Amino acid sequence: MELDRLHDRIKECTACGLCEGRTSVVPGEGPERPRIMFIGEGPGFHEDKQGRPFVGQAGKFLEELLATIEMNREDVYITNIIKCRPPGNRDPLPEEVDSCRPWLEQQMELLDPELIVTLGRHSMSRFFPKETIGKMHGTARNVDGRMVFAMYHPAAALHQQRLRDTLIEDMKKIPGVLAQEAQAPQVAQDEAGPEQLSMF
Ligand code: URA
Repeated sequence: MELDRLHDRIKECTACGLCEGRTSVVPGEGPERPRIMFIGEGPGFHEDKQGRPFVGQAGKFLEELLATIEMNREDVYITNIIKCRPPGNRDPLPEEVDSCRPWLEQQMELLDPELIVTLGRHSMSRFFPKETIGKMHGTARNVDGRMVFAMYHPAAALHQQRLRDTLIEDMKKIPGVLAQEAQAPQVAQDEAGPEQLSMF
């Protein structure tokens, strides 16, 4: 499968210094034709050990969120902005994000999902560099012909009930965004222009 070949190439990447401290590269996982692609920040401790995205506490919450819209993780593709764990789980550096960018571009091109869901501000900034997550979360916009929906990062909500509720509410908007996209993708783009389509 072409996706396996892409994952194999990502696993050999040495484009930035993060390759030195990693146990595994975490390219992403899910079907080759997903309707939704989730993009998180970067692998944490457990992801680095297992070579799989979102397998720790944040992943458990992501699975709970998916269950609220009757989906499970096997239905969607899950990846991160950067594919190797930063030491001590620090934020990714701009040069690390830049080095990893071609992999994310190839994943988006190959998988061609109907909807991209960004998890957290690092992932959101890839698509909406000037926006804040407080304003963008729970909204979808067309970016270069793709619908992108912003959410808070599930890890941010682990100890904050208010954010948990917000994440659940935002997740529940996804079926509506998908349905709208499936009905009239071309009209939506034509009316809104390539960049600005606020669905909510
Ligand atoms: N947090 C992320 O952003 N990505 C993972 O894969 C796990 C935790």
